Amino acid sequence: MPDIVELRAIEKYFGTNRVIPSLSLRIRQGEFLTLLGPSGCGKTTLLRIIAGFENPTHGQVLLDGDDITALPPFRRNVNTVFQNYALFPHLSVRENVAFGLKQKGIDKATVAREVEQVLAMVRMESFVDRKPKELSGGQQQRIALARAIVNRPKVLLLDEPLAALDLKLRKQMQIELKNLHQQLGITFVFVTHDQEEALTMSDRIAVMNRGVIEQLDAPQTVYDHPASQFVADFIGENNTLSGTVEGGQFHYGSTRIPVAEAPKQQGAALLFIRPEHVIINRQRPADAFSLPAQVVGRTFLGNQWKIHCNLTGSDTPIDIAVKPDAINALDGYTDVFLNWPVGKATLALQ
Ligand code: ATP
Repeated sequence: MPDIVELRAIEKYFGTNRVIPSLSLRIRQGEFLTLLGPSGCGKTTLLRIIAGFENPTHGQVLLDGDDITALPPFRRNVNTVFQNYALFPHLSVRENVAFGLKQKGIDKATVAREVEQVLAMVRMESFVDRKPKELSGGQQQRIALARAIVNRPKVLLLDEPLAALDLKLRKQMQIELKNLHQQLGITFVFVTHDQEEALTMSDRIAVMNRGVIEQLDAPQTVYDHPASQFVADFIGENNTLSGTVEGGQFHYGSTRIPVAEAPKQQGAALLFIRPEHVIINRQRPADAFSLPAQVVGRTFLGNQWKIHCNLTGSDTPIDIAVKPDAINALDGYTDVFLNWPVGKATLALQ
């Protein structure tokens, strides 16, 4: 797939505060790309740089191969959907959606047809004469979406568009948004700090930390193989072991833990293992590595239990996720041995 947006060595200062050190990113034509990261990491700033509301201090923005760094927002073939909808309060739904097309001088019949078509796409065709204040939050967001897609931009930028909705509506809108993306074939760049939302919706996720993309991968890869401690902690839960790599294995104290892809480098490394992949054994397994540990507690979480352990000797905490129907079998477990399938752990060299 060709790239629709290319960010080249973007650097952004606000006064003396450098919020993006040097960021390069290629966004593929037609993909659903999510910028994911904690509050203040620079997601919105990056989106606003693509939209043209913010100028980068250094670097270039390319759209479909053209350098658009110096162009104002209205000259860029991209639209933005904001969290607060930003609808015109005095205009009806129809007028809100038609506004941009009318400004461009497009003939009435075409405008009417296009507006009708996008309102049907967002299932709002029966609300054409309402004013924004006569709509629910979810309905207003649908209108904001319709308004942003009616002139078929090359890229749709979405800045936490679902953040103001309650959880149930939010889940429903996630599905609708994903369907809309598939129908339209437009590239979506979506900003969120919600990892679950990013995992559900995206083709690729760019995980950001302090203005830096720490990992850019498909959701499954980001989840299964976090590239750094930050990603491992930010996406779901992970247990972390700090050790060294020698001879293609991870060494934790005196235990040698095999890893799926033996690294050639040596030195300090972290090993990440998710709670659902850790196996708890009462006896030391004869034919595999294992780490001795003590069970120190358990927590009920509805769809699972968490068994809390400390590794013998280091007191490093390890959590193990257990299905409710398996918990009783673990009664009386105190001194245990932990291991996991070799392919389930991820190694990050430091
Ligand atoms: P959130 O999820 O809270 O919106 P974010 O990841 O989108 O966070 P940004 O809004 O891009 O983060 O902000 C990144 C940093 O830049 C923050 O430290 C913020 O205070 C700062 N910042 C953003 N806009 C401005 C501005 N106009 N003037 C000065 N500093 C700004």
